[in-house]
Amino acid sequence: MIYDVIVVGLGAMGSAAACHLARRGMRVLGLDRFTPPHAYGSSHGETRIIREAYFEHPVYVPMVQRAYELWRDLEQASGTMLLRETGGVMIGRPDSDLVKGARHSAELHRLRYQLLTASEVRAQFPALHPENDMVAVWEPRAGVLLADACITAHLALARRCDAELRYEESVLRWEPEGNGICVLTSQGEHRGRQLVVTAGAWISVFFPELPLRIERQVLFWFSDAGAPEIFAPERCPVHLWQFDEHRFFYGFPNLGSGVKVAFHHGGQTTAVDTVQREVEQTELEDIRGALRRFVPAADQELRATTVCMYTNTPDEHFRIGRDPQNSRVLIASACSGHGFKFSPVVGEILADRAQSKPPRFDLSLFDTNPPR
Ligand SMILES: Cc1cc2nc3c(=O)[nH]c(=O)nc-3n(C[C@H](O)[C@H](O)[C@H](O)COP(=O)(O)OP(=O)(O)OC[C@H]3O[C@@H](n4cnc5c(N)ncnc54)[C@H](O)[C@@H]3O)c2cc1C
Repeated sequence: MIYDVIVVGLGAMGSAAACHLARRGMRVLGLDRFTPPHAYGSSHGETRIIREAYFEHPVYVPMVQRAYELWRDLEQASGTMLLRETGGVMIGRPDSDLVKGARHSAELHRLRYQLLTASEVRAQFPALHPENDMVAVWEPRAGVLLADACITAHLALARRCDAELRYEESVLRWEPEGNGICVLTSQGEHRGRQLVVTAGAWISVFFPELPLRIERQVLFWFSDAGAPEIFAPERCPVHLWQFDEHRFFYGFPNLGSGVKVAFHHGGQTTAVDTVQREVEQTELEDIRGALRRFVPAADQELRATTVCMYTNTPDEHFRIGRDPQNSRVLIASACSGHGFKFSPVVGEILADRAQSKPPRFDLSLFDTNPPR
C-alpha cells in the first residue's frame, strides 16, 4: 500500500493533521512512538488556554478565529465537549508586552475587550489580586480546551475516515524513493507520497540543524479549599500574568482537579529523552511566591504536579513549511509553548499544503527562518 500522506507523531498537531487529511479522502497512515494522548511530550496536563486577543502577534488572530470554528466543528462531529469559554484576563503593567500586545491585536481586529483597573479585577474576579499599578485586558471568548479529549477526538475522527493509526511504532528515519518516501520504523517500512512531520519536541532528532531549545515546564495543581466559590469557572476566567519584564505565569479556574497554575517560560533547557520529571522544592517555592502575590487563595495544599516540554524557536513563532531538502516533507512544530489552541487550524493548513492549495492565512511569520 502506498499512502497519500504518512504523519509522524500523533500529538496535538499530528492528530489534527491526520484528521483533516483523512476527512478529505486521502489515504493516511499515522505513526506514534507512544499511545496518544500520553504524558511524555507537550500536550498533557488536562487543559490548555485558548484566547483571541493574541499578544504575541496580531497575525495569529485570524488563525485562532478559524481554530474556534474547527474546535466547535470537532465537538459536533465527536459529540464531546472540548472547549469551555470562561473569558480571559491578561494582566500586567500598561506598558508590558502582554497588555500592550493583547490590546494591539484586539484593536486591530476589532475584538470585543475591556481594559480593567486592578481594583475592577479584584472586584469582578476575587481570586485574582493584581497590584495597583497593573491593568487587565479582559476578553470574553478566551477559555479552556480539554487537551486529552481534543487529541482523542481528532484521532477517533481520523480513524472513522479510514486513516490507519499505528501506536508504539517509532519512526527511525526516511528516505526518498521514486516519486515518494520510504519510512523506516521500529516495526518495518511504509511508503507514502508525502510525509508530515509533527514530532513535537522530538522534531530536533530529525532536523538537528533547526535552532530549537527544548524547555522543561512544570505544572502545579493546588487545592481551593479556602474559597472554592471564587475559583469556579463562572467567577474565575483563565488568567495570564506578566509581572516582570521576562516573567509570566498563568492559571485556570478549578474544573475538578484543583487550581492549575504554571510559569510560562523560565524553565531549564533539557534534552528531549532525559527531561527531569521530578519537581524540585525550589520550583514549588517559586510558584507559591507568585500565588501569594497574585492569587493568594490558591496558596494551599499541593494536589499534583507534572512536567511537560516547550519546543522554542528563537523568535517564539511557529515553524510550518516544507523541508527545503525534500519538498515531499512538511514540517509543523516548534510551537514555543502556545500551539495547542491552533492544532486544528495547523492540521487544516497541512492538509491544504499536502493538496497544493493556496494558503488561507499569512504564514510568512512561520517560515521566515527556513527549517534548515
Ligand atoms: C506545560 C505546557 C503548557 C502549555 N499551555 C498551552 C496553552 O495553555 N495553550 C496553548 O495553546 N498551548 C499551550 N502549550 C503548547 C502546546 O501544548 C504545544 O504547542 C502542543 O501541544 C505541541 O503539540 P505537538 O503536536 O507539536 O507535540 P506533541 O503533542 O508532544 O506530539 C508529538 C508526538 O510525536 C510523537 N513522536 C515523537 N517522535 C516520534 C517518532 N520518532 N516516531 C513516532 N512518533 C514520534 C510523540 O510520541 C508525540 O505523540 C503548552 C505546552 C506545555 C508543555
